[in-house]
Amino acid sequence: MQLGRWFLVLILTFSVAWTAPLEKVRLQLQWKHQFEFAGFYAAKEQGYYQEAGFDVEFVEYNPSIDVIESVLDGTNTFGTTYSSLIAAYLQGKEVRFIANFFKHSPLAIATQPHIRLPSDLFGKRIEGIESELQSATILMMLRRFAMGLKDIEIVTPTFNIADFAAKKVDAMVVFVTNETYMLDKAEVPYHLIKPSNYGAEFYDVNLFCSKTYAVQSPERVRAFRDASIRGWEYALSHIDESVSLIERLYNSQSKSGEALRYEANQIKNIMLPTVYPIGSIDPRRVRMIAEEFEELGIVGAQEMNLEHFIFEDAKPQVALTQEEEAYIAQKGRVKLCVDPSWMPFEAIVEGKHIGIAADFFGLLSQKSKLAFELYPTTSWQESLDAAKNRACDLFSLASPTQERETYMRFTTDYVDLPIVLATDIYKPYTEDFGSLRGVKIGVVRGYAMAEILKKEHKGLSIVEVDNIMQALEMVQKGELYGYVDNLMVIAHTIQKEFTGVLKISSRLPHEIKLGVGVRNDDAILFSIMQKLVESVTEAQIQEIYNHWVTVQESVAADYTRMYQIFGVLGVLLLLFMLHYIQLRVYTRKLRTISRTDLLTQLVNRMGLDEKLNYFEGMATRYGTPTAVMIVDIDHFKQVNDTHGHAVGDRVLVEFATILRKTLRATDTVGRWGGEEFMVLCPNTSLSQAIVIAQNLREAIASHYFLGVGSLTASFGVAILDGATSIDDVTRHADDALYSAKAQGRNCVMSHT
Ligand code: GH3
Ligand code: MG
Ligand code: MG
Repeated sequence: MQLGRWFLVLILTFSVAWTAPLEKVRLQLQWKHQFEFAGFYAAKEQGYYQEAGFDVEFVEYNPSIDVIESVLDGTNTFGTTYSSLIAAYLQGKEVRFIANFFKHSPLAIATQPHIRLPSDLFGKRIEGIESELQSATILMMLRRFAMGLKDIEIVTPTFNIADFAAKKVDAMVVFVTNETYMLDKAEVPYHLIKPSNYGAEFYDVNLFCSKTYAVQSPERVRAFRDASIRGWEYALSHIDESVSLIERLYNSQSKSGEALRYEANQIKNIMLPTVYPIGSIDPRRVRMIAEEFEELGIVGAQEMNLEHFIFEDAKPQVALTQEEEAYIAQKGRVKLCVDPSWMPFEAIVEGKHIGIAADFFGLLSQKSKLAFELYPTTSWQESLDAAKNRACDLFSLASPTQERETYMRFTTDYVDLPIVLATDIYKPYTEDFGSLRGVKIGVVRGYAMAEILKKEHKGLSIVEVDNIMQALEMVQKGELYGYVDNLMVIAHTIQKEFTGVLKISSRLPHEIKLGVGVRNDDAILFSIMQKLVESVTEAQIQEIYNHWVTVQESVAADYTRMYQIFGVLGVLLLLFMLHYIQLRVYTRKLRTISRTDLLTQLVNRMGLDEKLNYFEGMATRYGTPTAVMIVDIDHFKQVNDTHGHAVGDRVLVEFATILRKTLRATDTVGRWGGEEFMVLCPNTSLSQAIVIAQNLREAIASHYFLGVGSLTASFGVAILDGATSIDDVTRHADDALYSAKAQGRNCVMSHT
């Protein structure tokens, strides 16, 4: 009795938290208050959050906050952030992506009007914060033109448009929602390079929460998301009203009404609410963005698993027939019988249905207009009687038995569990439950198990009890040998009430399959319920389980064998993983070795071929040209002849070092063979390449090679563009080199 009361107290504590009026949550914003978050403000102002049970506080961004971490550590419940959310997930951060609002980033580059293309930015002075320039959006666009941040000159921003207006910089990083307004207003001419026009379409303003919260409270997440989407719908269709709301409550940046309205209209173009449903997430787009992160080297290829990242909603609405729709419209509600004390599956607490079955029915009611009205009882037996008398139409969770099928029909099961025997900890573990003879085994009156045990285990004396707590207390006192029920219920109760006193000591050769019971004189209701049950996904059921079942394994005291097996499996798995990691490391090493020239440590012919292929792709896809040069040392044979091969080798190493040092990091130098080298300069025109080659030529000619003296080299230059093949361009460079030698060496010739 004492224990019984404790159990009740536990559940009551649960239900107090459960029925709390409004859940206080914090939404961490990715920037300062502005129209960017108008939809969230509207959701609060219009009471949508309140209807959904939330009291929302908006937390403005400041640079000391790591938005994602603040949500993971529980400081904030929800957050909005950039596409970096996707990278964070791939790198192992346990976040769930709830909704996307901006279909691409508002980040762009405003240029002086003569600069038209991203490729024109090569070598230009760009004003911007390093972190903005480093955003995937900008990096990806530059990469489309075979460029990186090394190819531009970054100028620290002044956060006003003065330097740009005075043409002190060639370009500046802007948000099309803000700075362009300032430029327009000041009538500064500019051209806008939008990354989204070059395939860099990264989602922005992404609403997310932690995995923990999403798994524990999927219905809360759904409610918050839907309220936020409603808020955005409202904000976009009431721009003036939203602007004045921001001016009134959220104008920490003191933006003018006009600036906010400008921002609003730009945001409409970024959200495109007539094209994409507000808040929608396209999994294919998420995958594409992830792949771009991989291409940028932000995440590794082995980390590309996006499973579980997107917080998923229920399956689409259940397709009901007209007859079924009419039935629901006419009847409206059905009566639901449940087990009043069968946690974690279900219980009635203060007149409320809680537990796994309750959450399951919560899901079902979202999928149809049918309302489920609880028929309160105080015992399962009472519920069975009510169903027999047609006082209720449904069992929330029950398994079919011969007796029950005389008045109910059962849908497909949604809970499927092993049946176990609980005893005190001194009883031996029994492999074969059937071998038990003449002992008293308890089972709850009316449970399907009672019918099965009586029929199949005639050697046992079955004692029917009122509920699990009563039964387990009898087991503890020795009045019963053991108690039979499903694993989850027993584990749950032992863990909560009888740790160290009771244990699971056998597994029965039965599995209990529980579905929804429907009165068998109502075929339409049955078909509706069957469709509803089938529409629930495995993942949704798992989510519900996870919510109600905490530690299941810690209870199974006599699962030593199982632990041993798991232990061995775990070690094997670990060894396998180590082996796999080692293999990967070796493979990577091998890959590097196979592409490296051992003498000079430059890439070898194979590595050069790979690079050439890559640049050929860039040339045909995006039209970015690559300069290709072949460099040959003049009269190198004489070096060998005069000083010997060893000195010749050393000269080759020194020569390679000069080339490497003189070139940019984005250029590639490799050993083409013997004393010939190849240089690849991405995104470089012929005239630029000739300048680079002349620099190299001078660097070599002015170098003193130890023990040898001065040497010269000849250069053949050609361009790889959309119209040339790799074979063409190497032939062209070779021909040009040949004519450089013919010209008397120590010079640069190009293919025209
Ligand atoms: P030029 O190119 O100006 O016409 O004259 P060259 O003397 O450089 O002519 P050629 O290209 O015919 O000779 C290349 C020489 O480079 C041949 C070979 O002795 C030497 N060589 C090639 N590979 C190596 C190497 O790995 N180590 C050394 N020490 N010598 C090499
Ligand atoms: Mg040669
Ligand atoms: Mg030579």
